[in-house]
Amino acid sequence: MPSDPDLAARLAQVDAGIADAARAAGRDPAEVTRIVVTKFHPAALVRDLAELGVRDVGENRHQEAQAKAAETSDLDVRWHFVGQLQSNKARAVRAYAHAVHSLDRPSVIDAIASDDGREIEGFLQIDLSGSPGRGGADPADAERLADRVLAAPGIRLAGVMAVAPLGEDPAPAFARLREVSERIRSLAPDADRISAGMSGDYAVAIREGATHLRIGTAITGKRPDAG
Ligand SMILES: *Cc1c(COP(=O)(O)O)cnc(C)c1O
Repeated sequence: MPSDPDLAARLAQVDAGIADAARAAGRDPAEVTRIVVTKFHPAALVRDLAELGVRDVGENRHQEAQAKAAETSDLDVRWHFVGQLQSNKARAVRAYAHAVHSLDRPSVIDAIASDDGREIEGFLQIDLSGSPGRGGADPADAERLADRVLAAPGIRLAGVMAVAPLGEDPAPAFARLREVSERIRSLAPDADRISAGMSGDYAVAIREGATHLRIGTAITGKRPDAG
């Protein structure tokens, strides 16, 4: 039994919301991957989610992600790293990550590349706020970064990722991300994934073409305070 009796209901409600938004946009809900962001919650929550059928989980801090991945290594879940990546942690992130959503500069791409025989999915994180640097590349640098990933061993360029800027209507922001995605696809047709949409804006993101949603609190409930 999950320790939170409402977890299953919240998950079902979000999944119904995803299905509705996809159908309203004329899209197949099955083409949308819902990642549950479990940051600040204990590994037991990942276990509860896995029992409810969740296969994709996300974290934004390396140490926390590494510990939870180790504690739940018996589960069939895929870890998505969605937080700011430091070059000196990149190798360690690679060891447990199925996908990294925060490639935003050449140094982290170079650091996470490897010829270890595994391939992880890499998303280019694009800044939509107009002030790149706090996570996310200048949209003008997208092609250059894409080329860097395409040349890097052990990373498959999946597409682009962004967080909607605070205090702004997310729709035009996600539309800008979609334009960047189209530019990347003209270089790399398979890099057609768009990671966008969180608890408050996932329906808008689906309308603007998101294929990967990163949803935390709408499913997990309020986060415990950051440790
Ligand atoms: C925490 C986090 C999310 C999930 O946010 P919610 O608002 O709780 O859904 C999504 N993406 C990133 C990068 C995050 O850090």
